[in-house]
Amino acid sequence: MPEAPVLALIAHDGKKADLISFAHKHADLLRQFQLVATGTTGQMLIDELDLDVVRYHSGPLGGDVQIASRIVEGNVYAVVFFIDPLGKHPHEPDIQTLLRACNVHNVPIATNESTARLIVERRAVQDSLPNRDSDDAS
Ligand code: PGA
Repeated sequence: MPEAPVLALIAHDGKKADLISFAHKHADLLRQFQLVATGTTGQMLIDELDLDVVRYHSGPLGGDVQIASRIVEGNVYAVVFFIDPLGKHPHEPDIQTLLRACNVHNVPIATNESTARLIVERRAVQDSLPNRDSDDAS
């Protein structure tokens, strides 16, 4: 049986409620991924939904960079990153690093709920197809 694809989840403080709401709506789909997350986001997903999540450092302490590093290493299916466009972030350079890593390595990144839904639902469609050869996200 192939390994579940890795999905990274991150939400800025002003968007955490939106991410948790998204996760509630799509919990069954999220359980089909290996989930990784920045520290606080990951803890909330564990506490609120009992999801199995590998947590990195909190974003401002380097978690975004750790996830960027995983993207550079390969084997990340997609990133859901609910960015708060109205907030100021002390780790802005780290956020740009993560976005850049996705763009350099052509990894799908959703920065809002509509796109995040497309990513997790696409996975469900892929799973329902008889030919699983095209499992990559490209
Ligand atoms: P957090 O990090 O999940 O630890 O809050 C997210 C971020 O602000 O990048």
